[in-house]
Amino acid sequence: MSDNKIVTRFAPSPTGFMHIGNLRTALYSYLLSKSQGGKFILRIEDTDQVRLVEGATDVIIKTLEMTGIDYDEGPGVGGDHGPYVQSERLPIYKEYAEKLVKSGHAYYCFCSAERLESLKDDKGIGGYDGHCRDLPAEVIEKNLAEGKPYVIRQKMPLEGTTSYVDQVYGEVSIDNSELRDQIMIKADGYPTYNFCHVVDDYLMGVTHVVRGNEYLTSTPKYCLLYDAFGWERPNYVHLPLLMGKDADGNVSKLSKRHGAVSFQDLVADGYLPEAIVNYIALLGWCPKDSNQEFFTMDELKQNFSIEGLSKSPAVFDYEKLKWFNSEYIKNMPDDRYEEKALPILREICADSVDIKKLASLLHTRIAVFSEIKDAVSFVTSRLDMDPSLYTNKKNKTTPEGCKVILEDCLPLLKDAASWDNDTLFELLKGYAASKELKAGAVMWAIRIAVARQGVTPGGATELMEVFGKEESISRIEQAIAEL
Ligand code: GLU
Repeated sequence: MSDNKIVTRFAPSPTGFMHIGNLRTALYSYLLSKSQGGKFILRIEDTDQVRLVEGATDVIIKTLEMTGIDYDEGPGVGGDHGPYVQSERLPIYKEYAEKLVKSGHAYYCFCSAERLESLKDDKGIGGYDGHCRDLPAEVIEKNLAEGKPYVIRQKMPLEGTTSYVDQVYGEVSIDNSELRDQIMIKADGYPTYNFCHVVDDYLMGVTHVVRGNEYLTSTPKYCLLYDAFGWERPNYVHLPLLMGKDADGNVSKLSKRHGAVSFQDLVADGYLPEAIVNYIALLGWCPKDSNQEFFTMDELKQNFSIEGLSKSPAVFDYEKLKWFNSEYIKNMPDDRYEEKALPILREICADSVDIKKLASLLHTRIAVFSEIKDAVSFVTSRLDMDPSLYTNKKNKTTPEGCKVILEDCLPLLKDAASWDNDTLFELLKGYAASKELKAGAVMWAIRIAVARQGVTPGGATELMEVFGKEESISRIEQAIAEL
């Protein structure tokens, strides 16, 4: 193992999207290594050629880049243990499988597909019966010489138990009699995950295998491979399942029916990568002695430890993610916020709208960027007017009273010296004073007339600034005509 340092890896299969559970695995694996100054490797597990999706590796790399999970070795980055894509390592697996055949821990199996099929019951379930486990050497030679297709199987011990201590779940133990002689190398020469990930983890010096708990109970088989090779077993850190809330109040494995489950979909829905990372960091882990909820990546690296991991399933709560996201948006520096908000507004607003000003009114009011469109529908269209909006108890306004205010203010606004918030505010305040009206009543009338909805980001004069003079005047004229 290199320099006694922790080495972890993320070993996704390129499926075309990054499930949020996989991203959490990547994050925890990264954090475990980085919390101790270790190394983190990205390895692409693409040996299941049937499931390959074009461009899928790019999705993985892009996601890691966007979330700030940077790997020390992997595709595109290089390193001493490459190649880092399994389909480019086929000769290595072959070589290591042959070693186990030689040492008696694996064997060639020549059983035909028909024979294997016949071992299954009517439900299609049935295990391999070990038919080729002890073929005489001459038969093997002959079959190989004849070019008979074969797979290589792991020779499981028939008795005893195999156990290991998982760092999260504790001891896991299995009766060897329950283990099938699983395939290591398939007839087409491709290795199975069950075999090649072990070879890779060893050759890449991985000290801690961090992954989903669906592998918890198959790990004894992998331990037996380490033992067969005479290699030191790595530490295992299996992570609890991510669940989603069902409509009936129960929980089940997080899937599409709960909402967006891929990183890309969440980003497309307006979530920020750093908010997503912060939220999923807490789905199965918590800091030891604090209730801290907000973490930068650096803080996560400082605080992460295996002891903080939980073995109970974590429930993905979209509302909580939304809350995190709104806090992250609020705290975004203006320039970064505008980078995201302005293009959306530019696309949907008329040229006369001051989108920079509008964006700033929305800054503390949206939880996800995708809410912007609805939040400004009162700007992009003239909503149906509900006259009862003019009635406001606190400001003592009525539709009739508002009509008078609007009629009085219209010429004043037309003559306004300039069209900015301060000037407009002073102008309306002056008018209110001259009529012994509450400034609030005047602002109320104008705000409703201009926005045509009750709740708005910003007050009357801010909104007029956003709309510009022409549109504001036109909206007030329409409001007067309707009253
Ligand atoms: N390719 C496997 C997966 O995506 C990796 C499991 C592991 O980390 O060992 O599930």
